[in-house]
Amino acid sequence: MANHRIFEDAISRLDSAANIAKIDPEALVKLKCPKSVLEVNIPVRMDDGALKIFTGYRIRHDDTRGPTKGGIRYHPHLSVDEVKALAFWMTFKSAVVGIPFGGSKGGIIVEPKSLSHLELERLSRGYITQIADFIGPNTDISAPDINTNEMIMGWMMTEYSKIVRQYTPGVITGKPIPLGGSEGRKDATGRGVYYCIKEYQKISKLKNKDPKEISVVIQGFGNVGESVAKSLFNDGFKIVAISDAQGGIYNKNGLNIEAMIKKKNRSLDSKSVYASTCIKEMVSGDDVTNEELLALDADILIPAAKENQITENNANKIKASLIVEAANGPITCAGDVILNQAGKIIMPDILVNAGGVIVSYLEWVQNRTGFYWSPKEVDEKLKYMMLLAFDKVINTMNVNNTDMRTAAYTCALFKFSEAVVANGTQQYFHE
Ligand code: NAD
Repeated sequence: MANHRIFEDAISRLDSAANIAKIDPEALVKLKCPKSVLEVNIPVRMDDGALKIFTGYRIRHDDTRGPTKGGIRYHPHLSVDEVKALAFWMTFKSAVVGIPFGGSKGGIIVEPKSLSHLELERLSRGYITQIADFIGPNTDISAPDINTNEMIMGWMMTEYSKIVRQYTPGVITGKPIPLGGSEGRKDATGRGVYYCIKEYQKISKLKNKDPKEISVVIQGFGNVGESVAKSLFNDGFKIVAISDAQGGIYNKNGLNIEAMIKKKNRSLDSKSVYASTCIKEMVSGDDVTNEELLALDADILIPAAKENQITENNANKIKASLIVEAANGPITCAGDVILNQAGKIIMPDILVNAGGVIVSYLEWVQNRTGFYWSPKEVDEKLKYMMLLAFDKVINTMNVNNTDMRTAAYTCALFKFSEAVVANGTQQYFHE
């Protein structure tokens, strides 16, 4: 599905939650348009000597609750509308888990796999040069997203530090650990998804099931898909299918995720950012397309790749009773309606994939204090914050008798509205 309506689709989810949260109308007005939209053209000297221009964006959605925070995506089909929607979701994600950040997002229109290693580095550093005046540890903080990783975050942090003539690790998170990264950041999003699934299991019909009887299908085997697969696999869950952009593999007896991760890592030599192998070459089983994978019969479906994967065109084919949005925006509004009518439970992106931004926050705190925590300390803090938010959302859902997405938006709106009201609203100035 094309991405042209993605921002409109994203904000349309606000109104139903706003009715329940009864927030100040000014808070709602503020949330419906981004604070700033920056477009930059980045000149890059290619290996053959030619100069090529790449277009990039940095969009800050809202900073009422703190500096804006959001990842950087490299993709050939990236659009302004998509970046706006992703920035909007970041504002809500930070609010729902109660961390003092607003939302932003950025990216470059590029097929990064077509670049050499040095071209990729020049492009990444060039992007920071262009946006340096608009970012900073107290203004706007970046992180990895699709097709960007810790090595790229490291280049970006050193470039920013060079520009401002000060070591500034807090400008970007998801860095390599020797450059001020946090323990546990790489797996944080997946761990957070895993903690939510385990918590939900306690109150669902999966309650008394042994993990090995619970079948799981995962779309996407990148940072998020891999880390959620690893956590579930290590806990004994049966992952029957997994895919990447090239398609997926299905095995009704379960896939050996650990062996697949080893194969994937082996295809990454010390200089590579992207794996040179695909899922179909890593493991044997039945080939499935991504479309077929979404419709497989399983207990849990985890879209962990891209937005707009479940729409009005395929929502009625989904068989899993629990859908966990590890990716941002994998279900459109129209898809949501069909799934809700069919009685499916959807664990919403702004809650379940917030583990990444939580550990990014912890990384930022560690960078600012210069005091670093162990993997165990980071994981404990992540779990605590995830489950606190999860319980709040479930409670709000039960009190208002809504679906989980509306409850998550309601919780986030409450948090956001508190900050808007604290600043003074029209009502305050007229009294
Ligand atoms: P990534 O680039 O590491 O991995 C993306 C994966 O999706 C790859 O396996 C790729 O082959 C696959 N893919 C791409 N297009 C596909 C398609 N059309 N069908 C099936 N698979 C496809 O990216 P990531 O960081 O894992 O991000 C995945 C999703 O999670 C995105 O929606 C991102 O915004 C979201 N997210 C990421 C983080 C994070 O910390 N990285 C945090 C929260 C949310």
